[in-house]
Amino acid sequence: MIFSKKEADIYIPDQTKFRDATHRTTHLAIGAHQDDLEIFAYHGIASCFDHESKSFGGITITNGSGSSRTGEFADHSDKWMMALRREEQRKAADLGKYSFVVQLDYESSEVKDGENLHVSNDILKVLSACSAETIYLHNPADKHPTHIGVLKKSLDALRKLPEGMKPKKLYACEVWRDLDWLLDEDKVALDASLYPDLASELLKVFRTQIAGGKRYDLATLGRRRANATYYNSHAADAETELTWAIDLMPLLRDPSLTLEGFTLSLVDRFRMDIKKQLKGF
Ligand SMILES: [Zn+2]
Repeated sequence: MIFSKKEADIYIPDQTKFRDATHRTTHLAIGAHQDDLEIFAYHGIASCFDHESKSFGGITITNGSGSSRTGEFADHSDKWMMALRREEQRKAADLGKYSFVVQLDYESSEVKDGENLHVSNDILKVLSACSAETIYLHNPADKHPTHIGVLKKSLDALRKLPEGMKPKKLYACEVWRDLDWLLDEDKVALDASLYPDLASELLKVFRTQIAGGKRYDLATLGRRRANATYYNSHAADAETELTWAIDLMPLLRDPSLTLEGFTLSLVDRFRMDIKKQLKGF
């Protein structure tokens, strides 16, 4: 498969042919940076881990250039950091036994450029080769502009898929902003409790990100734990760890529905809920 960037990287841990690796993929996640898949799509990774008929694939859109660097990585050049981050993503794919991971090597600025069609074309190529029934994306209330850029490019690509190839489940998940604020009926609870050691090890792979003291590994596991405990004030925790997600299928079913309109309607429902509670007493 030929992608727009010549440095795009296809990695298949068990060295199956790419065509077969995409074909066997049932769960697919599309993230902006090396480590995003492991933070927001752990539900998919764990659901497929060592499973005989399920397989997880990942697409990481950017090349990790311009990433912040501290501690032991403070003096590394952009090029060196990009190589390290690419290797970390490959290691995570090994550890999580992914079907494949594709790193498309875009700059953040290209992802945020509404005129750039290459990103969504590349995503569409992978989507068309996969038979993924469940897809995980960034969420539309995320505060990282590159995450929103990737979400929009992914939706553009998904909307171009022929009807029979569209996923059955499309989840938008948490990274830079959690989704606890959504009304319970507006969010989907994705169980992230399986294989706790794997969950932790996958996050620790990204040493370039956490070595300077930014403990994404601890924060991500802590968030999942908090999501499970604060879900229901009366019941004991059914799952010990949860990722919250928004069901984005309405956007695939209705091409006239905008991402902005859809998301703000969820915010309005949140607002009305607070209003009702406060008025009630
Ligand atoms: Zn990210």
